[in-house]
Amino acid sequence: MVNTDARPLIDLRNVVKTYETGAGGVTVLKDINLKVRPGEFLSIVGPSGSGKSTLLNMITGIDRPTDGEVYVGDQAVHKMSENQLARWRGRNVGVIFQFFQLLPTLTILENTMLPMDFCNVYKRRERKDRAMRLLEQVHIAEHAHKLPSALSGGEQQRAAIARAMANDPPVIVADEPTGNLDTVTADGVFALFEQLVSEGKTIMVVTHDQSLSERMERVLHLLDGRIDRDQNNGHNGRQMSVESGYEHRLA
Ligand code: ADP
Ligand code: MG
Repeated sequence: MVNTDARPLIDLRNVVKTYETGAGGVTVLKDINLKVRPGEFLSIVGPSGSGKSTLLNMITGIDRPTDGEVYVGDQAVHKMSENQLARWRGRNVGVIFQFFQLLPTLTILENTMLPMDFCNVYKRRERKDRAMRLLEQVHIAEHAHKLPSALSGGEQQRAAIARAMANDPPVIVADEPTGNLDTVTADGVFALFEQLVSEGKTIMVVTHDQSLSERMERVLHLLDGRIDRDQNNGHNGRQMSVESGYEHRLA
């Protein structure tokens, strides 16, 4: 459930991202202001090249803003060093990619345990049991001891979701997680996200799939590096759109 009184969990203030290219600077995020509250399930849609991945990368700290501020919880993400970022991300943000990015020489269980070994949130002797429980939760426990290449695309994405959950992060971001999956498999992955939201996670998903984004409470439309529309589908089918630049309100 979204707590409308809560402080934003994710807060982007006047975020600008400019890439330097041979042909000069290209500004791909233009004064982005965005607040996401704890428990929100938000999708980001927009044409290819509109800045969706760059926006997610600002939140995970995978890339840095040229200007502006990015807060996740009480962390000023834009101020952290690379070392601080890697450790912080491992505990606080689960990241899911289109092509899964599981390590090919490790089993599914080992892939799931890797973030726990990196971050030391859970004791060493607890890690294997916890990883198995996560694999059960995403319904692939029977594949725990196989290599990723032995699994289907949908199963690999479920493993990537289990890995993203390894350190029980409050925030999960996914960049076109169903872009490489068939419709039925994509539906199952989305159902998993819905379950995680009901358990209190805050999730941002970039998706091209309109039937999936229509299921979400809030859809952010990006166009040419700006928030073109911040659409709230409410809880009772009521649609409400807020023009860019205004504070997002909940129905
Ligand atoms: P989307 O995910 O919406 O397809 P991206 O965020 O990946 O869009 O990219 C937005 C724009 O930024 C695109 O025009 C892309 O070519 C450009 N871009 C992304 N990364 C870089 C980079 N490292 N250097 C230069 N331009 C980049
Ligand atoms: Mg992208």
